Amino acid sequence: MQVGFVGWRGMVGSVLMQRMVAEKDFENITSIFFSTSQAGQSVTMRDGREVLLKDANDESQLLEMDAIISCQGGDYTKKIHGPLRASGWQGYWIDAASTLRMASNSMIVLDPINNVDIKLAIDDGKKDFIGGNCTTSLMMLALHGLFRDELVEWVSAMTYQAASGAGAQNMRELIQQMGSIHDVTKNELASAEGDVLEIDSLVLERMRAQEFPTEQFGAPLAGSLIPWIDSDLGDGQSREEWKAQAETNKILGRQENPIPVEGICVRIGAMRCHSQALTFKLTESVPVLEVEKILSEANEWVSVVPNDKLSTVAMLSPTSVTRTLDVPVGRIRKLNIPGNIYSAFTVGDQLLWGAAEPLRRMLRILVDRG
Ligand code: NAP
Repeated sequence: MQVGFVGWRGMVGSVLMQRMVAEKDFENITSIFFSTSQAGQSVTMRDGREVLLKDANDESQLLEMDAIISCQGGDYTKKIHGPLRASGWQGYWIDAASTLRMASNSMIVLDPINNVDIKLAIDDGKKDFIGGNCTTSLMMLALHGLFRDELVEWVSAMTYQAASGAGAQNMRELIQQMGSIHDVTKNELASAEGDVLEIDSLVLERMRAQEFPTEQFGAPLAGSLIPWIDSDLGDGQSREEWKAQAETNKILGRQENPIPVEGICVRIGAMRCHSQALTFKLTESVPVLEVEKILSEANEWVSVVPNDKLSTVAMLSPTSVTRTLDVPVGRIRKLNIPGNIYSAFTVGDQLLWGAAEPLRRMLRILVDRG
């Protein structure tokens, strides 16, 4: 199988490369690497191979691929996918961008949940397999057992999303912002006697200054937060918030009878890993111990964190979860609100299960089917 990779040096692409090397996925395919900005250059890949980059905007070279994995972003998908299909290209398109997710002839892939549907779609001749929104995929893996047992009436997901969710440049900007804040305070910090109100005012002055680096985020993130992610739909909802219900129900095959999924998506100054405070209503009263059992047995990546302070602080943070495929869920309680309402808090690496891993596994499904 000749597989073309576009966007392999971005945030999602880099993690995809890392995982594919670790799982020896490159041994089963012929891989060709493309770039929108570095065509013609020779680069060293993660597994030590020297490769010559092809032009990601050159349709004639893309047409030769049996499959293309794009982690390049929505603008690239918009520009390239339609013309490729119009030229009669019959290969598989596997994509991290949201552009094609809701298209009727595409499938959102999250194989621990919709493996059977993915295989049916391949048999049906579907060719576009798209990774889901990161927070949505992570929320679904966390609540997998409850969705599977049709116990969920609605979900509210209040998110705490990491800087890396916005891409490589944004991750760099967060660190620049942190560095800039540290720069103006280092003298005061060096002295244990430093006046904390003075430090606070230096920080604020720097964060509000013209030169504070905000080109990528458009606002300070370090020392602050941004309660809006993705575009403004004009009805009070952000596009990131809209995706949760739309994609959850497409993955579950429940578009005709959707489960309401709502919330507010917030960017925070975590480097990597999205966290979510979930409130959900179950269709019946289920003891908390039973909820924990249903959740922890649903798939091999989810685990239940005991709802106590020590376990929560140790196991339920971006720092502890980053670079793992684990999806811990904790803070599980039946709330003091009438009507079978529960809470949970979950953390997951949005670059792994939220982006690269479903794409990697989709390619593996295709390769294994021959
Ligand atoms: P990204 O890090 O911004 O990378 C996209 C492209 O930017 C790269 O392929 C590269 O293309 C170019 N680029 C320019 N300067 C770069 C630099 N300094 N370092 C690395 N790449 C640079 O984007 P991403 O976060 O991976 O997202 C790709 C797609 O996946 C988007 O559609 C996004 O919505 C989706 N997605 C992202 C996440 C996430 O957590 N980040 C999760 C799920 C889905 P060239 O080599 O061609 O120049």
